[in-house]
Amino acid sequence: MHLRGEPLGRRRRVVVGHADEDYQAGPVDAADGRPVDADARPADPLHHRPHDAHGTGRSSGRGTMPTMPTMPTRPASPPRPASPPRTLITVAPTGAETAKAAAPPLPVTLDELVEAAQACEKAGAAMIHVHIRDAKAQPTLDLRRLRDTVQALREGAGLVIQLSTGGAVTDSYEDRLRVLDAAPDSCSLTMGTVNFGDDVFLNQWPFVVELYELAKEREVVPEFELFDLGHVEALRRLLDEHGLPFGGRVHCDLVMGVPGGMPGTIETLVAAVQALPPQVTSWSATGVGRTSLPVALAALAAGGHLRVGMEDTLTFARGQPVRDNAQLVERAAQLAVLAQRPPMSADDARSLLNTRKAA
Ligand SMILES: [Zn+2]
Repeated sequence: MHLRGEPLGRRRRVVVGHADEDYQAGPVDAADGRPVDADARPADPLHHRPHDAHGTGRSSGRGTMPTMPTMPTRPASPPRPASPPRTLITVAPTGAETAKAAAPPLPVTLDELVEAAQACEKAGAAMIHVHIRDAKAQPTLDLRRLRDTVQALREGAGLVIQLSTGGAVTDSYEDRLRVLDAAPDSCSLTMGTVNFGDDVFLNQWPFVVELYELAKEREVVPEFELFDLGHVEALRRLLDEHGLPFGGRVHCDLVMGVPGGMPGTIETLVAAVQALPPQVTSWSATGVGRTSLPVALAALAAGGHLRVGMEDTLTFARGQPVRDNAQLVERAAQLAVLAQRPPMSADDARSLLNTRKAA
């Protein structure tokens, strides 16, 4: 990558996280006198051109095809939206890795989880990525507990509910598939195997496909978790071979900075985003540990969405443990406001992801 000294906006366009981004005015326009998405199709704002199409077909076509108009017809300016483009903030409050004793504010009981969901929704989150714990605060995929969790979150908060199908690295494929029986709005779907510290997070291709097809059948919207550039390519293969997910939108999350996965650097984020398949309609990014802030800032700058929470980050600043999940969401919301893409509501997120309508 050769990013130094060259603003992103002047290079090729990075895929933009939200439809309304196409209409964004302000500092982005002022920077180089050209809207960031001037070449997007206004009639279909969620459409993104294939990344490998950038820069091709232009020089070769011009002057050699007599039917080409000499001046491209400029589409009519789209109406300016009443509200600014928005950022999807997902909170991942618990995870499967951290012990309660090591981080006392970690929500591990159902009451703590609902309380965290309410506080995070108030702070600007629109979706919650859920791992649950058993009576001893150990990670579990117990179906009864999962169902109770989904029900309690539906009653207690308005957030889009995403259940992790990753569980802990020791969980069986069978248990991980059964997560969908709890009828969440969304589920995580990890696009390949990755080293995870000393462990291996196993996601063999047949399992990935089986989970994908099951999610379609159950009308659950997957969030594709990409820990590595190879996972980006696996997502392309999955979509090409097995079509679009339920709802027709493709949302993914770059999980960066896991020891064994891709590093949480700006260069890697840009490389991953540029490699995303054309079917992707929105993406977010997560930086684990100390990469949390740089990844969040880079994701916002590149038009992406955010995932934050104690699953990924336990230190708010150097020497300062995280107070609670809402503190991380508050900071993400402040960054989103500064970027002039304030947090979206849970209803906005339901539209963005096109989740199953309530029965
Ligand atoms: Zn997770």
